[in-house]
Formats: sequence, C-alpha cells, structure tokens
Amino acid sequence: TSFWSKVPQGPADPILGVTDAFKRDPSKSKINVGVGAYRDENGKPYVLDSVRKAEDIIHTQQFLSLASKLAYGADSKPLKENRVAVVQSISGTGALRIGMEFCSQFYPGNKTLYLPNPTWGAHPAIADKAGLEVKRYRYFKKETLGLDFDGMKEDLTTAPEGSIILLHACAQNPTGIDLTQAQWRELSDLVKSKRHLAFFDMAYQGFASGDVDRDAFALRYFVEQGHEIMLCQSFAKNLGLYGERAGTFSMVTASPEEKERVLSQLKRVIRPLYSSPPLHPAQLVATILGSPALYTEWLGEVKKMADRIIAMRARLYDILLELQTPGNWDHIKSQIGMFSFTGLTPEQVAALAEYAHIYMTTDGRISMAGLNEHNIRYFAESMSKAIK
Ligand code: PMP
Repeated sequence: TSFWSKVPQGPADPILGVTDAFKRDPSKSKINVGVGAYRDENGKPYVLDSVRKAEDIIHTQQFLSLASKLAYGADSKPLKENRVAVVQSISGTGALRIGMEFCSQFYPGNKTLYLPNPTWGAHPAIADKAGLEVKRYRYFKKETLGLDFDGMKEDLTTAPEGSIILLHACAQNPTGIDLTQAQWRELSDLVKSKRHLAFFDMAYQGFASGDVDRDAFALRYFVEQGHEIMLCQSFAKNLGLYGERAGTFSMVTASPEEKERVLSQLKRVIRPLYSSPPLHPAQLVATILGSPALYTEWLGEVKKMADRIIAMRARLYDILLELQTPGNWDHIKSQIGMFSFTGLTPEQVAALAEYAHIYMTTDGRISMAGLNEHNIRYFAESMSKAIK
C-alpha cells in the first residue's frame, strides 16, 4: 500500500471553494463576488497596460544589450562607457535603411556611400531610397577570383575625404572573399587617415568561421582603433530567424550625452518607417543570448552550420578535381561563408538550368548551404560538364 493511503480528503478552501462552486453552476445569471481579484467591465482579469509596457521595455532593453554584446564583445570599451547608440531594426535590411537615412540627414562629411563591387543586390536600392549617392570601390579580381586589395585601397584613397564606406564584416556576399586580419589592420589605418566613416554590414556573424568572436574581428578592431563606426546587425542567418526580422542598428558615439542626442534622432528616423519594433523577435533573441544553456547550445549550432558549409566546399573541390575539370578551383575552398563565387559564366549558368535543373544567380554565385551529401556529386558532375 502507498505511504499516503490514510491521508484524508481536506475540506474545500473557504474562498477558492466559492469559485469552484461558481464554476460548477451552469446558470446564465451567475455572479462571482467571492474572490478579491480585480475584474474589468466585462468580468475579465485585467493586465495593467503599465505592466505590459514595462515587460516590453525589459525585453527590448535586454535584447539591445545582449545583441550589442554579441557584436562588439563583452569587454567593448564604448559599450562599457555607455556611448553606443543602439536601436532594434527590421532585420539587416531595416538596419541599413535606418543607418543610411541617419547619414543622409546628419552626416557632416561626403554623403556618398562607397559599396564594394560586387555587393549584395539590395545595397544600392536602400542607399538610393535613403538619399545617399552611391559609388563603388574595387573588391573582386576576375583574373584571380580573389580580393583586389590594391584596387580597393586605391579607390578608397582617391575617394573624397570623409566618405561613407560600406564594409561587409565577414562572409562577403556575393563573393565569399574576406580581408585577412592583416588587411583589415591596414584598411583601418587607411580609413582613419582619410577620415572616412566605416559603415559595417554584419549579416553573417558566426557563418564565416563558425566562431562568433572570430567573425567579429574586423568590427571590433575598428572600434578598438577609435573609429566611430556604424553597424547593421542581422539575426536572419545565424539564428535562422529569416521571417522574424530580428536585427539592430548601432553606432559608436563620443560620450553618453552624445549617444542620447543621436538616439533621439534615430527614433525620429524610425517613427515614420515602422513606428516601433516587433516584440517577439526581441524576446526570442534575448532569451537565447541571455540564457547560458541556450547560448552555449546556439554557439554549437552556429558552428555546426558553418562546418557543414566548409565540408561541402571541400567535397565540391575534391569532386571537381577528380573529374579533371579544367581550371583552378582553389577559390571554392578558400572562399568564406554562405556563398561561393564559382567563376561560372552566364552561359554556363544558363546551361546548368536548362540541362541539369540547377539554378543559381547569373553572376555564378552559389549558396553552399544548398549542397549536401545527397546532391553534391550530381551538382559537381553537372558543373564539370557545363565547363567542359
Ligand atoms: N546584408 C547582407 C550582405 C546580406 O547578405 C543580407 C541578407 N541577404 C542582409 C544584409 C539583410 O538581410 P535581412 O534583412 O534578412 O537581415
């Protein structure tokens, strides 16, 4: 028999028992005045608006603080000195729009945005809507399928002093080519000597190396070097939250007081765009970044995604060589992040679609994430055929 077989049934609670009786009563005209909990005009429990608002503020503040720590690093000097202005954006795209509109209104230097050539397709359109002039700097070298660092430096040197320079923080889209740490250091000096504004777009933190800190190197180095950078941060890829539209726009300012002034204007940019940000993505991201167990699990998942992509690069490279595909394919392995700029011509891209049912953008960019153990051999064989 159970330990508890002799425990007698207790009497109903004198107050809660009233509610039980009320609930059991099927009458339409029943009224419960037994319990002292406030009910509204419709007899419903009432969550005070002030409490709801406070909850929203807590979540949003946690989100902004955790998201900026992830990007800038927990030891970031401007974060500790409370001089980073940060607002929640509609993912990376929304962040770009906020930052560019802010530059368009307040940037005292040359209101021309220099974009890498090539860059993500939406950059020019966002800049245009925000009222910035757009120019390009050299980035990709066709002959080597690598970085044109000399061209890049030359273009950023000849750009008028105080221009706005958009930099992909890591895993450049579409080329998959990033600067080395030594090149970032050199670029930081150049940008500083030309008094340019470094405008970082970080849509793939964690996706390049699998390590969120390593992928933030360029951003953190520039901040350490005293640049008053701007940052667009997206959680679409590294948290897989494409549809939630979670992101931030932030900028390093000179003082807490300057930060407040800047924030007041960022809010004025946001007000006519989307008024206030959605709560759910902020709650999701804050919960993951703020819970030690979930945070560790997430870091592992980011690494897993990045590693799978890196493994697919190696497989594609090996099969292309095995099939004796003409050309040099080192770039497939050396490129970084979600994308690879294969070097396929528009004709080859069209042939792949027509004869092999393989679809990619006409610039020959492939998303490595679309490849897996099941389809990679067919993909590599078709690619090899298209080239031969
Ligand atoms: N910047 C770059 C370089 C991107 O590749 C992307 C996504 N394709 C974004 C920004 C913005 O993405 P989202 O608005 O989905 O965060």
